Amino acid sequence: MQLLLFGAPGVGKGTQAKLLSTKFNIPHISTGEILRQAVKDENELGKKAQEIMNRGDLVPDDIMIGIIKYRLNKNDCNSGFILDGFPRTEKQAQALDNLLHEMDRGHIKLIHIYAEEEEIIKRLNNRRACKECGQIFTLNEIKDKDSCPNCVAKNSFYLRDDDKEEVIRKRMEVFKETTEPVLKYYQSKGKVVSVNGLGSVEEVNKEILKALGF
Ligand SMILES: [Zn+2]
Repeated sequence: MQLLLFGAPGVGKGTQAKLLSTKFNIPHISTGEILRQAVKDENELGKKAQEIMNRGDLVPDDIMIGIIKYRLNKNDCNSGFILDGFPRTEKQAQALDNLLHEMDRGHIKLIHIYAEEEEIIKRLNNRRACKECGQIFTLNEIKDKDSCPNCVAKNSFYLRDDDKEEVIRKRMEVFKETTEPVLKYYQSKGKVVSVNGLGSVEEVNKEILKALGF
């Protein structure tokens, strides 16, 4: 099971990645995690990437692909992986295809969790976090409550910056610009599985599994 996970900010991608990782016993690999691990392992490419990032520059594709290769060669990837945050360009997608071919690994599938932008905004805007314990609630769950159901803190609910409309819109714009070409690339190869992200966590998970043939 080799998966790429795509989804607009706020669509619940992280939660689904966790569920899939547990279900198939494959690691959820984010590019941030790979980079940190490579640096920790004192991998040569990792060190190079670190220097580049320290200068505030973007890690070039060839180094990134090298680090991904290093990560996919680890034993926990034997029966697959979920890659999150890569590829971000068509060129990177091609490089990843080449890498998988070179490593003699099978096909990759892209799971695209989609939802109407306005629906995502409505959903996120409807969330409140507790500033004491960090738990997130919907407005409906805390209606008529003046203390947190989780930690009983008083008047601790607030709208997180990440859940504010203007912040979400900006992140979505960036997401669309960077991911559309990648999506098209995989669509042209018939490797995209699209799943509606607006249901409950369980519903979306079921949809994904069904789309993958489980
Ligand atoms: Zn709380």
